Amino acid sequence: MIQLIHVLSTSLKNIDMQKEYDVIVVGGGAAGFFTAINIAQQRTDLKIAILERGKDVLQKVKVSGGGRCNVTHACFDPKELTQYYPRGKKELLGPFHQFCCGDTFEWFDQRGIELKIEEDGRVFPITDSSQTIIDCFQGEVMKSNIDVLTNQALIDFEKEDGKWLVSAKGESFTSDFLVIAAGSSPKLWKMIKSKGHTIINPVPSLFTFNIKDDRLTDIPGVVAQDVEIKVLGTNLESSGPLLITHWGLSAPSILKLSAWGARSLADKNYKFDISVNFIGLTNDDCLSQLKELKQDMAKNLVVKYNQFDVPKRLWRKLVEAAHITETTRWADLTKNQLESLSSQLTQAVFKVDGKSAFKEEFVTAGGIDLKEINFKRFESKVHKNLFFAGEVLNIDAVTGGFNFQNAWTGGYLVAKAISES
Ligand SMILES: Cc1cc2nc3c(=O)[nH]c(=O)nc-3n(C[C@H](O)[C@H](O)[C@H](O)COP(=O)(O)OP(=O)(O)OC[C@H]3O[C@@H](n4cnc5c(N)ncnc54)[C@H](O)[C@@H]3O)c2cc1C
Repeated sequence: MIQLIHVLSTSLKNIDMQKEYDVIVVGGGAAGFFTAINIAQQRTDLKIAILERGKDVLQKVKVSGGGRCNVTHACFDPKELTQYYPRGKKELLGPFHQFCCGDTFEWFDQRGIELKIEEDGRVFPITDSSQTIIDCFQGEVMKSNIDVLTNQALIDFEKEDGKWLVSAKGESFTSDFLVIAAGSSPKLWKMIKSKGHTIINPVPSLFTFNIKDDRLTDIPGVVAQDVEIKVLGTNLESSGPLLITHWGLSAPSILKLSAWGARSLADKNYKFDISVNFIGLTNDDCLSQLKELKQDMAKNLVVKYNQFDVPKRLWRKLVEAAHITETTRWADLTKNQLESLSSQLTQAVFKVDGKSAFKEEFVTAGGIDLKEINFKRFESKVHKNLFFAGEVLNIDAVTGGFNFQNAWTGGYLVAKAISES
């Protein structure tokens, strides 16, 4: 016990043993690096350190976007951009007016990194390699003399005589400004909570749906291009491409639902029903078209004659689910079979039982309550000179480069606030 008290008091109180910095940034990820570099380039007089828990920095950047790093999105209107954020939509409007996706292009361009826009609006380095972004950040940090201290997990911080006393696993430090950019870390959220902030319970976002259903077995890789999906019993709905996987359903239409429904689907323990409209017609319109086909295509086999924009293998499954055999001709379809096929095409119900990670990108919904942040500076309203950026806040977006954009925008505004102090 006496030993423990001794360790604690030396780690937090013995100023002689502490390294002094003007700014300490906790977290060597996207938001941490962007913040530190932007401060250093506006204020060369400030001594800055990044404390990173792990032995390597920028690990998420490395694996991001399937190793290509989807740095931002080609969306240049702040208001429109906010629509991609289930959490943070309102709060990010002002910040996006200060630093938006176009500024991200310019920032990287000024550092010799060329970005390209893909058809769906996602933006990647022209090299298609996240290493390009890592090399850029590492180079900027070296140029700016920022200390990057690895294996230095933050274990406590407190204010004393106007300075932050920062205790890490390896050493302790003092600083005038403290920036926490530690991503989604339950340990850190607990620590931040103990300092007076509210933490919104974290739950996963951007996941795929697990579904065991005969209609989906043996056809992984099939994509329906433009579907409409509803989560039954809620007002959650989305549209877009749908991918059938070995485990269930994925692709943008599902990821959007997982993001907007992150909290309500967690409450349902990821067990719920969805209704899928594969063709975008109402059930009545579909039924009328099927009746016409019954007349016009009387002699054709139903399973072979697919009049709709539904992939062949999926069509075969839906026909089977409507209890129509391989040898049934259009003319032979009963009223029940027509109704059943129409229902499969326009309101097919699937039972979701669990979720899986989407390997390209996943984030956490939850974190520091946005009510407690001054979004002009990304500063805590509870403690002066304490700043937050990135996923540590209760901000997250759908897939497409928006999560990094939040990290860049937050980092930029923290840097501006500290540089002007
Ligand atoms: C597989 C995957 C792919 C993704 N791809 C994309 C993409 O292409 N585009 C996109 O926009 N978003 C993507 N995302 C989301 C994006 O990576 C995050 O939103 C973003 O990294 C958040 O940045 P951050 O700096 O807030 O947190 P992080 O990048 O998570 O960085 C936080 C850092 O803090 C450190 N840390 C934690 N606790 C402590 C502590 N106590 N002391 C010191 N350091 C600590 C962590 O080790 C980490 O290095 C992806 C996510 C994943 C998981």
